[in-house]
Amino acid sequence: MSAGPEQIAEAVRRLKDGGLVAFPTETVYGLGADALDAAAVERVYELKGRPSGNPLIVHVSGPEMAREVAGVWPASAQRLAEAFWPGPLSIVLPRAERLPERVTGGGGTVAVRCPDHPLTLALIEAFGGPLVGPSANRSGLLSPTDAAHVRASFSEDEVFILDGGPCPRGIESTVLRLEGDGFGEATVLRPGVVGAEAIASVLEGPVRNADAGSDEIHSVAESPGLMGRHYAPRARAVLVDREELELAEVGEAIVAIDFDEAPEGVFVVAMPANASAYAARLYAAMREADEAGPSRILIERPPLRGPDASSEAVWRAVHDRLRRATASA
Ligand code: AMP
Ligand code: MG
Repeated sequence: MSAGPEQIAEAVRRLKDGGLVAFPTETVYGLGADALDAAAVERVYELKGRPSGNPLIVHVSGPEMAREVAGVWPASAQRLAEAFWPGPLSIVLPRAERLPERVTGGGGTVAVRCPDHPLTLALIEAFGGPLVGPSANRSGLLSPTDAAHVRASFSEDEVFILDGGPCPRGIESTVLRLEGDGFGEATVLRPGVVGAEAIASVLEGPVRNADAGSDEIHSVAESPGLMGRHYAPRARAVLVDREELELAEVGEAIVAIDFDEAPEGVFVVAMPANASAYAARLYAAMREADEAGPSRILIERPPLRGPDASSEAVWRAVHDRLRRATASA
């Protein structure tokens, strides 16, 4: 059931007390705390078991609040905010002095975004300030796309949940760094549903992709979520081609598009063929597969391309998450 004004008021009380509130967004549930309260931010790291160098995204109600946490707000950021906010685009800029160091993982930049969810926008407005919001899960594991996923990780004492139902986008925001002359140089550090092509058309300039595997990648510290095993189920997960699904053994699980010839003793999670629907289902599907307690999860490699530029961006983001979910370490 979706939360109302009473739950928002309770959430604000908890945040003002330095407590943690999980909030719904269009991407995944965030683990919220007052971004300007160093002790509350510290609790987020502790509860998630998040490595201290992995910075948090700051959630704001719009460009005006973004200026409170970013040290500069260039015209390029304003244009992107006008085009994509509220929405799944996090913009990395030099940080404001007043922001606790912990928020930025000790670095000189901050990632800021305005989430596209009425409950969370109402929460930020009512709270009256920016909130950190990493995904509301234990570090390294699957991101939560439903309130029940959050509750499976954290007790009522630890986290108050603002229930907004399932997250419609299902994978984390695009993380874009702006730098250089007039902040006109843009690099996608983490792919999401807002693709480089859409960003380039707003900026009227080139946008680089720093995907894993590309030699354009800068350094681990610049976007820690980019490296290694992350977004992963508990069971070992592997990416396979369609033909290999037939080789699934008893006790294994399969996550595949339009697959209904379930071999005996194999748990099958069927995925939609449409890019956006696939992304929205991905984490819940991996969770379902995991809950069957399989010895291994075989994930069918989804298409690399979509029929248009926007599904292309979504498939790219999906492949990025699958690469990390199936990384060996
Ligand atoms: P999550 O909170 O799980 O959505 O992860 C947030 C991701 O945003 C991290 O893994 C980082 O890669 C990225 N991020 C957050 N802040 C920054 C920053 N200041 N510079 C670069 N990347 C960032
Ligand atoms: Mg996360």
